[in-house]
Amino acid sequence: MDPHAPFLLRLSTVEEGESHREMVGSPEELAFQGDGFEPEGPISFRARIYRIGDRMEIRGPVRTKVRQTCGRCLEPVVSEVEAEVRVFAEPPDSRDPREREEVREDDLGIVYHDGQSVDLTDEVRQVLLVEVPWHPTCREDCRGLCPRCGANRNGDGCACTEDPVDPRWRALLDLREKAEE
Ligand SMILES: [Zn+2]
Ligand SMILES: [Zn+2]
Repeated sequence: MDPHAPFLLRLSTVEEGESHREMVGSPEELAFQGDGFEPEGPISFRARIYRIGDRMEIRGPVRTKVRQTCGRCLEPVVSEVEAEVRVFAEPPDSRDPREREEVREDDLGIVYHDGQSVDLTDEVRQVLLVEVPWHPTCREDCRGLCPRCGANRNGDGCACTEDPVDPRWRALLDLREKAEE
């Protein structure tokens, strides 16, 4: 097998009926770059394959870990990401072109193979991208950064006043202070 194409399935190695396969690739091999996160370690795909002649259904969980930045305190956050791949692989000439266009629109997850191999790299990549957290936080109750001095409020905090007075109340307090003078 091509070591640089871990998600390439050679048809000659897939038996008729049901079979299982574990495919493992590195972040570099999936070309995850500039997506707002870094994968931590390998990407694994436990595929269950049903083959009838030159058609196959390939499905199973894809797992990896990604490193992102907490949206509140900017500390690194590592999350487990799991997604489900489900695709049908078939030769390109098994449908007429018009029908193929409709299938694409319906997003049924069809990949075409050349009779030699099926490349699942794009499928694995796409399902993971959907599952990567959009607004990662290091923990549910992350207190974020102090708006005054920028210190991380999850740790020792800072010397700034705990709850700065809301400006809308400030006006009211000023009035009261005036009245008391
Ligand atoms: Zn945080
Ligand atoms: Zn502060």
